[in-house]
Amino acid sequence: MQSPASPETDTKDWRRKYSDVVRAMEADERQYREQLGTLKRLVARLCLVGNGQSPELDATLLTLKEVIARDHAPAAELDAIASNIASVVLEQDRRATVPSTTGQATAAAADPAAVDPRLRDALVRLLGELRRDPELINSIDLLGMELASLAIADDLPRLVQQAGQLATQRIRNLEMMRSGLENLLAQMITRLDEMTGYIDGDEASRQQEHSRRTAFTDQMADEMQALGASVEAGSDLALIRVQIRNRLDSISRHLQDFRQRETAYASTAQQGTDAMRARIAQLEQETSELQQRVEAEKRNAMLDALTQVPNRLGWERRFDEELRRWQQFPQETCVLTWDIDHFKRINDSYGHTAGDKVLKIVANRLAKGIRGTDFLARYGGEEFVMILPATTLASGITLADTIRAAIANIGFHFSGKAVVITISCGITALREGDTATSAFERADQALYQAKQNGRNQVVEG
Ligand code: GH3
Ligand code: MG
Ligand code: MG
Repeated sequence: MQSPASPETDTKDWRRKYSDVVRAMEADERQYREQLGTLKRLVARLCLVGNGQSPELDATLLTLKEVIARDHAPAAELDAIASNIASVVLEQDRRATVPSTTGQATAAAADPAAVDPRLRDALVRLLGELRRDPELINSIDLLGMELASLAIADDLPRLVQQAGQLATQRIRNLEMMRSGLENLLAQMITRLDEMTGYIDGDEASRQQEHSRRTAFTDQMADEMQALGASVEAGSDLALIRVQIRNRLDSISRHLQDFRQRETAYASTAQQGTDAMRARIAQLEQETSELQQRVEAEKRNAMLDALTQVPNRLGWERRFDEELRRWQQFPQETCVLTWDIDHFKRINDSYGHTAGDKVLKIVANRLAKGIRGTDFLARYGGEEFVMILPATTLASGITLADTIRAAIANIGFHFSGKAVVITISCGITALREGDTATSAFERADQALYQAKQNGRNQVVEG
């Protein structure tokens, strides 16, 4: 479907068009009635003037008067009467001009009468009236000139016949105008049908409004049927006009009601949609908050509260993950275990709080020494573990030794006393067939070796 303007604009547009058509019809109809009335009066006058000329003419003129007095004289009937008048006049004329047995013309012909001025006047008026029709102007002007130069009544029957034919033509043209108006009405009905079709089409896409729209289209269809019926009956243009106006008013009322219901429905639907949207937004918000809480709890569950690095649970998860990745895409990966040397002494000498502080500082230093892709966890107590993906054993050892040296150089002070804290490390590279346990045990074994070797050192396992 051609994308229509808003239905509102659409309706206003149609309403304006129909009003224009009705106004134009009113003007046309007034003109039609006036002209037909004038024609009737003029023909009646012609009849009056022609009356008494002959019994045949009188009879024909009487019939003409009767026919013309009817509201809608059919053109064919008028046509027949007009030619009948002409033939009667011609016959009279012929009889008048037939030579007598004595070889003399009749009195009427011998003594050609001057044209009856009343007859001439009636004809002039009739021609003047017929002149309104642009189609007839040329013929009428020719006839008018002939009539003006007509001195004797001889040619009068021919002129009357021609005037009659032109009058018939004029009536025919007026009838055509009337049927043109009827066509216009038919077009209007088509437009109204299109409008109903548009509403019907909309209906298909909005099933839930079915009943409301059906009621509306039923009302419209009734109006349309009534409008069609009045045009078909079509006997009285004035009546049709009144009916069309009534129908249009009625259609306009239906449209207004429909729009009002539509607006009410739309606002209700809008409220529903808004509420629904708000509820969905709220649910989304709640869901995302819940999700964040779950994520946080999950993170917390795997995070060591004291040092804020991942705990053993976090380690196990990550170690499994890294191991699986390594099995898929083998690359040199180092596993490290760390243990603070003689940590028990710190606790014992400076208290548990001092011990905790050491744990935090050491954890920080360990974390600082590795990349984002590496992983550090507090395995338990004063033990830490690391995994360094994509790292050769040699560079792993270098890295571990750098961290070890850095920790040894931290320079703790407890109770105003400088305290050196060292850390030992066992390091190993993942090997073919390794499991989490086998790799960890190798690293732990190396750590044990580092302790055995005197601590504060990195041992490869
Ligand atoms: P080594 O060099 O052989 O590792 O000696 P070490 O003293 O470090 O080893 P040991 O396992 O004997 O002592 C570990 C101590 O770490 C025991 C425990 O009190 C202490 N510890 C474990 N967890 C914590 C903790 O969360 N905070 C504090 N302050 N101390 C802890
Ligand atoms: Mg230990
Ligand atoms: Mg220790």
